Formats: sequence, C-alpha cells, structure tokens
Amino acid sequence: MSFDVDYFVIGGGSGGVRSARIAASHGAKVAIAEESRWGGTCVIRGCVPKKLLVYASEIRRTLDDAAGFGWKLGEASFDWAKLIAAKDQEISRLSAIYVDLLRKHGVAIHEGAARLVDPHTVEVGGARITAGQILIATGGKARVHPAGKPELWITSDQAFHLPALPRAVAIVGGGYIAVEFAHIFAGLGAKVTLIHHDELPLRGFDGEVRQMVRDGLGAAGIEFVVGSVHDASGVPGQELTLTLDDGRVVRCDTAMSAIGRDPNTADLGLEELGIALDERGAIEVDEWSRTSVPHIYAVGDVTGRIALTPIAIREGHALADTLFGDRPTPVQIELVPTAVFSQPPVSVVGLTEEQAAERGLDVQIFKSSFRPMRFALPGRSEKMLLKLVVDRASRRVLGLHVVGLDAPEIVQAAAIAVTMGATKDDFDRTLAIHPTSAEELVLMRG
Ligand code: NDP
Repeated sequence: MSFDVDYFVIGGGSGGVRSARIAASHGAKVAIAEESRWGGTCVIRGCVPKKLLVYASEIRRTLDDAAGFGWKLGEASFDWAKLIAAKDQEISRLSAIYVDLLRKHGVAIHEGAARLVDPHTVEVGGARITAGQILIATGGKARVHPAGKPELWITSDQAFHLPALPRAVAIVGGGYIAVEFAHIFAGLGAKVTLIHHDELPLRGFDGEVRQMVRDGLGAAGIEFVVGSVHDASGVPGQELTLTLDDGRVVRCDTAMSAIGRDPNTADLGLEELGIALDERGAIEVDEWSRTSVPHIYAVGDVTGRIALTPIAIREGHALADTLFGDRPTPVQIELVPTAVFSQPPVSVVGLTEEQAAERGLDVQIFKSSFRPMRFALPGRSEKMLLKLVVDRASRRVLGLHVVGLDAPEIVQAAAIAVTMGATKDDFDRTLAIHPTSAEELVLMRG
C-alpha cells in the first residue's frame, strides 16, 4: 500500500519537530501540522519566555546588591511593555528558526488543526493526507482552577501577555510554574501571594530543598498562604477576591492558576480510533512510544510521561531513529536532571534522601550549606545548599541537590558524572576550582 507520506507528525513543538526533522534526515517523506505557533509550549509559552522573564526579574537582586560593591545608582524603574515586546520579538525569531529547520529538511508544513480520520489518514485544512506512520505530539495545556468562573483566572499562557504588570497577583499551586512566576512577578515589583494546599512547595523534591524554597519565597517578600481556594469573584485586572476553605480571603487584581497541566487529546479523533488513554486523559505508550493502535505513536507531554522538553526531544528523536534510521531505540530514562528557576534556583539529579529511604537503600548524606562569596559585601543572608546522596556500600553518587546561584548550570555539568556512575571517591579526587560555589561538590567530607 502506498501513502502520500511516510510519516505525519501532529504538533510542531519540541518533540514533534525533532522527530519530523530526524525522520526526514533518514530519508523519510515527512509532513507536520501545527495549529498554533511553531515551537510549541517550550518556545512559545513555556521554558524560553519564562527564562527571559526570570532574567529580567533577577536584575532586581543585582540592583539591590550594587551599593555593597560601591555602586551608586540612580532610581531604577521598570517598563513591562518594553520587556514583553522584546520577549515577543525573540520568541518570533526562535519560532521562525523552527520553520526554517523543517523546510531545510524538506518537511511539508501544514498550518491548522489536524485530526485522525483512520489509522493511516490525517485531515488538516480540508485536505486528507495518508501516512505510513503517524506521530501525535500535541503537548498539554494549563489547567484552570475550578473556583468561580474560568474567565477570572489567568494561566501561564496569559501571564506572558498581560497588558501591564499586576499590582497584586495571587498564584495558586506549589509546583514549578507557581514558584517560578511568584519570583518573576515579585522581582519585577508586584505584590505576590502564593496559595498552596501544603506547608511546603515542590512536592517530590528533597525536604530541605523545599524548606529553602519556601524561605526564599519569604525573603523575596512573597506571602505564602497555606490553604485551598474555594471561591473566586470580582473583576480581573481590577479587584478579585479569593475565598479559602476556612473563610480567609486573599485580594488581588490578577489570579493565576498554576495547578498542573493536562494533555491535549481533545478533537484529535483518538476515541474513534480506540487509542487508549490513561486516567488523566494522557495517551498510553510503551517504551517505543507506541500507542494501542499500530502505526500511531505519541511523544512528549501528551503521553503523561515526564513533562520536560528534553524528554520530549529524546522521545521524538528515538522514535525517528527506530522507524526510519534502522536504529531501534527504546526510551528508558533513569536519571532526569531538572531545575526550578526560582530565585535562587533549584536543580537536582537523581534520588532524594526520602526516595532512597523508600527504596530501602543504605545511603550516606554529604552536604554543605554556606553563604556564597558573592553575597558577602552586599550583606545578603541567602545561603546555598549542595547535597549528595551516596550509596554507602558502592560509594556511588545516587543524587545531587543544589539550591543557590547558578544551581542549574552546576547540576547540568555534574549530572554527566552522576549519569556515568561516578562514586564519591571520584568527586573527592577531582580538584576544586577556587573560589567558586561549585567547588563544595568536591570538598565535602563525611
Ligand atoms: P506541577 O504538577 O509541577 O504542580 C502543580 C501544583 O499544583 C502542585 O503543587 C500541586 O500540589 C498543586 N495542585 C494540583 N491540583 C491542585 C488543586 N486542585 N488545587 C490546588 N493546588 C493543586 O504543575 P505546573 O503547572 O507547575 O507545571 C507542569 C509541569 O510542567 C511540571 O510538572 C514540569 O514537568 C513542567 N515544567 C517544568 C519547568 C522547568 O523545567 N523549569 C517549568 C514549568 C513547568 P501537589 O503537588 O500537592 O499535588
């Protein structure tokens, strides 16, 4: 049976674009569809614009510290509209690069919402295209808080395009997005309240790390309210009232829902084809990214595996190698380095002390907590934490947890050693680079 294309990819985000491009480089005839902007969540409304806003927000810390180094600055002011315009320009540049990459590889581009008509046919923009294999890489979307009317809430999608910096923003949630945006808005000058149903943010992270993040929120002037929002009312952009379960109220002009994300599986024709979804509505896949229907695959956030760009890219690439590169590559990810771009940031790879205990592992903990030299002259009290979880018998480093300046840059490099199976003795025989904060990694003694 012959098809119009060998491979049709639905979704032009990190996973879909990588898979399409690699499949084409292996000689496959490839088409791809995207209903919004090329680049997907990460480039358009996630990691990239978020990091640009983090950079903008962190400048507040530099300004605050400047006097300690002898600088006398004039009064600083901040222009939200200017930041958003500059950010939008950069995002457009990056999105165009994605399209260029696809074109250079000869991938046929379709702009529009695609849906599956049968296991080998995709409909997009009124056209029907048959394909030997189909990839669903449609990503996810932010969940809107159920309290009050949905239009009272913004999610991270709208946070990137607000007409003005909120005066008072209340963020609900305690995950990556809640913590990152709380710091972004606070650094830029908004009054921020973080409402979370737990005493500590970032469930699943090391307990000490979570406490430091909570302390960091406080140090940035962010009010941490433990509670659950029961009702919401008012006028967005003007005055909103969030009522908690116990009757307490939080007033703000902007209410942001950061309570997680859901897979984009609606209107794709999945039910009609009998593609199995899990209880969260995510597409079920095996380690080959195969769905329950032959020739249909799924990668990235739509699958409910770990919702991180590098994972989607790895999955999309592996699938293209398997299908068209004569290189069968299952995705078996064990160690996932990750970062939360709070201020200061957090970055980790491997097991926490708590996870090691749950698995019954006998571990030794090495840690160093200190005030980085960078803060000595400005008198900033912020501390840095580096923590190693080491298997007692083999001495293998099972986990690394860092809170503080440049934590993601430090952990990315150290994650290579951890992935290679480095032992504590390997760390110990590595010479320090002095003076740095990261040198503590090789100086910790039991
Ligand atoms: P997360 O799943 O990380 O966090 C959701 C938060 O909302 C948790 O604190 C959760 O609490 C809380 N929550 C869940 N349901 C409710 C509810 N009904 N009412 C109140 N609170 C609730 O989701 P995010 O939206 O922050 O981010 C989505 C994913 O995107 C992340 O998990 C991550 O994989 C990815 N991401 C990665 C980033 C990075 O790499 N820096 C940045 C941003 C996103 P509890 O934990 O107690 O259930």
